Amino acid sequence: MTTDYEDVVARYEPVIGLETHVELGTRSKMFCGCSTEFGAEPNTHTCPVCLGLPGALPVANEKAIESTIRIGLALNCSIASWCRFARKNYFYPDMPKNFQTSQYDEPLCGEGYLDVEVDGQTVRVGIERVHLEEDTGKNTHVGTSGRIHGAEYSLVDFNRAGIPLVEIVTKPVASTGALAPEVAKAYVTELRDILRTLGVSDVRMEQGSLRCDVNTSLNRPGAEWGTRTETKNVNSLRSVERAVRSEILRQAVLLDRGERIVQETRHFSETTGDTRPGRSKEEATDYRYFPEPDLVPIAPDAEWVASLRKALPELPSARRVRLRDELGVSAEDMVQMTNAGVVDLVGATVDAGAPVAEARNWWLGYLAQKSNEREIDPTELPISAGQVARAIALVADGSLSVALARQAVDGVLETGTDVDAVVAERGLKRVSDTGALEQAADEAIAANPEIADKVRSGKLAAVGALVGAVMKATRGQADAAAVRQILLDRLGVQ
Ligand code: ADP
Ligand code: MG
Ligand code: ZN
Repeated sequence: MTTDYEDVVARYEPVIGLETHVELGTRSKMFCGCSTEFGAEPNTHTCPVCLGLPGALPVANEKAIESTIRIGLALNCSIASWCRFARKNYFYPDMPKNFQTSQYDEPLCGEGYLDVEVDGQTVRVGIERVHLEEDTGKNTHVGTSGRIHGAEYSLVDFNRAGIPLVEIVTKPVASTGALAPEVAKAYVTELRDILRTLGVSDVRMEQGSLRCDVNTSLNRPGAEWGTRTETKNVNSLRSVERAVRSEILRQAVLLDRGERIVQETRHFSETTGDTRPGRSKEEATDYRYFPEPDLVPIAPDAEWVASLRKALPELPSARRVRLRDELGVSAEDMVQMTNAGVVDLVGATVDAGAPVAEARNWWLGYLAQKSNEREIDPTELPISAGQVARAIALVADGSLSVALARQAVDGVLETGTDVDAVVAERGLKRVSDTGALEQAADEAIAANPEIADKVRSGKLAAVGALVGAVMKATRGQADAAAVRQILLDRLGVQ
């Protein structure tokens, strides 16, 4: 049987569901005062509470509750007027208490939705729940494989244990057909932009502060939904799309052979682009959930929730509408920018002071090229909109040519510093000193007497080689048109 994607989605209907974990950017942990700072010496941000020592008592972090409610409001969810934490019992070495404090049948936020744009269509993704829990520690398996199997020994760092974690679970999304992988990616992208706009997390997929599990199933048209698999380890936006697509193809092969899909977790491999089996899935009953006796229930005051709702910032979808209307971006540009995933980046670059046209050109041009080369999304490029706006400003005031501005941007992408630092460090300045240019021109003429003669005898096209030599000597920092004119003057041709 063929595994051609178009053929598969003509015969089967995919259903997807996304579970997204967001590490909140609070300063202290969920149930204790320990710092949440990333990258500290292992096990330095711990205390009796987050190490689960007997007798230690947790206290809920108010800011984390506030952030969760704000996320729920941004996702059009109902907010519980009363809810509780629950213990999710399981044993794993990265979880010192042997239970995770989470929420079960009483989440802080109930049903809502998020609309995403894919291929000119609006797809409404239903939200099932948004709840608050705590992160686990981090295991490092030392040995050649990097995995637990075959490791010589394993280390545990509890700095991350107890960091507030919000889980956002979608309802199953059906009827998107061939677009299912793109819908999954568009949803995570939009969600990430909302979380960033709310300022509740730094949403870095590569650092794990935004993590996504992708559920996928297939059914014959008109039949009941199929059995889902849950793909973990999806660490980039591009991988979300690839994971759904590869799972659709894999399941179709099995179903075509008359086999069953096993409900299991699978792991996505960035290198092979496919999924491998993980563990078979526990049922909720295996976790022996029960209400957490050490914490008081959460009962958000209606007035507090109303004031949080009122204070929500402009969300990305509204910003896109504003960009289109107020800044006069044409409908055509808007589609191009949406497809490239740069609308918010252009918006942020404009907010940072750049003209719309320049911001658009950079994000659809040079920066799109850079993100393609790296096979990442433009939003994942290690440069901020503010830095792009700075490069644009330096071109506008004549300090840099476009070519130099690109070098400055390259420097930011390589070093993670800022445009001004790269310009200073690499001495990226436009050479407009005529004396220096004349000297470089004379040197180029002296070094290339035959070419110089050709130009003198009227073959003006030959001057290009001399311009190239001067540009090289000035490390691309001269204005090519000015150099050409100086060379022609020196050679006595007009
Ligand atoms: P679990 O904790 O077992 O993963 P959750 O309820 O937290 O269960 O999440 C299940 C996810 O799978 C939800 O996003 C849900 O929408 C999705 N889902 C449920 N049924 C299907 C299905 N048949 N196909 C695809 N996704 C599904
Ligand atoms: Mg789950
Ligand atoms: Zn602690």
